[in-house]
Amino acid sequence: MSQLTVAKFGGTSVVDAYAMHRCATILEQNPDTRLAVLSASSGVTNILVALASGENQPSARATLLQQLTDIQQGILNSLDKPETLTRHIEDILIHIKELADSAAISPTKALHDEIVAQGELMSTRLFVELLRHRGTPAVWFDVRKVMRTDDRFSRATPDMATLQAEVEKELKPLFDNQLVVTQGFIGAAQDGRTTTLGRGGSDFSAALLAEALEATAVQIWTDVAGIYTTDPRLVSGARPLSEISFSEASEMATFGAKVLHPATLQPAVRKQIPVFVGSSKEPQAGGTWIRNSTESQPLFRALALRRNQVLLTLTNQSMFQVHGFLAEVFGILAKHKISVDLITTSVISVSLTLDSGAESLTDEVRAELDKHCHLQVEEGLALVALIGNRMNEVNGIGTQVFKALAEVNVRMICYGASSHNLCFLIPEDNAEQVLNDLHAELLPE
Ligand code: ASP
Ligand code: MG
Repeated sequence: MSQLTVAKFGGTSVVDAYAMHRCATILEQNPDTRLAVLSASSGVTNILVALASGENQPSARATLLQQLTDIQQGILNSLDKPETLTRHIEDILIHIKELADSAAISPTKALHDEIVAQGELMSTRLFVELLRHRGTPAVWFDVRKVMRTDDRFSRATPDMATLQAEVEKELKPLFDNQLVVTQGFIGAAQDGRTTTLGRGGSDFSAALLAEALEATAVQIWTDVAGIYTTDPRLVSGARPLSEISFSEASEMATFGAKVLHPATLQPAVRKQIPVFVGSSKEPQAGGTWIRNSTESQPLFRALALRRNQVLLTLTNQSMFQVHGFLAEVFGILAKHKISVDLITTSVISVSLTLDSGAESLTDEVRAELDKHCHLQVEEGLALVALIGNRMNEVNGIGTQVFKALAEVNVRMICYGASSHNLCFLIPEDNAEQVLNDLHAELLPE
């Protein structure tokens, strides 16, 4: 099979012309890379989200627009202000101003996505110009031609069958002797209106495009040299991992590691496409390969932390030897599209944590649950996930882990369902200390 790599560059990788040149070098050094998927320059999406909210005065809007203009002009200046592109970017900035003025009068979800998508549309235009300046043939491609989605604005779901068909027709023919540059994060509904896939969604876009193209690798270029044993900002001994399996990396992404958008690995797993995560600031430092199977399968590989957890405990005295209580509770949660993360049960109660945190627990949901059981809600908790291999087959794991937690009130433990993780809830205030203690104990150098 011929080699085909899809490379994704995150916001910090394309923050200015200097950073973009580093990305260009990475691409030029790997002729297998045919498609580059870009985020908006760092900071741009946040500004656009603020403009799209409609909740600002004209003077605040002017300030935001000025910040946006400065970021784009900075890159244009480094490119000696090419005439056509400069005019094009200025037109987009005027368009954003008009859309933001409309949003201030009447913000809509569709308008929100149209505004927010402009960041990726601009970064990709600028990057194509920069590549051409360097003598690298490149073409700009509007991903909305192929990334067709439903119309759930801000968190649209792409339609894989259409993506597959359109990629064949629209994208593949462009691959001859040039690099194709396109946008992450954005798509289009069936009626053509712009949609977005959720914050941080560019990783997911790149993986979906790789799946549709049957690529042989996906590279995620960011500002850290791969996936670490744990968050290096919290634990000084954290080290980069050279490899990790799809199963372990999915657990990490789901349970709080910020390196990858949690959905990113699904397309890669479906087509068994290896994913590389590295830093565009120091590509020579290497990075992490995420693959189906890894050379090593250590018992403990990594630790992830997710803050801001709520624990619900639902108690029903008559649950004892009665069937259907759990079905009722889960029915209510499902009706409100609330997804459950961890769960433990006793004879008369069930405790669970919610994926989406406290916000999803609206008064309506509480009232409905109240009809069936006594409801207790605890906040201020953090979830720690220990990730590894064959964890449910080895003796003495509990002793090893909980020795490091002797001084902590562990509120809930989930173990056994997966061979790749052991999760527990602790008071948020203890989180950093626990992470450091566990790392020292279980993942020493
Ligand atoms: N620009 C978008 C965001 O900031 C998408 C991404 O960077 O992945 O969320
Ligand atoms: Mg990102």
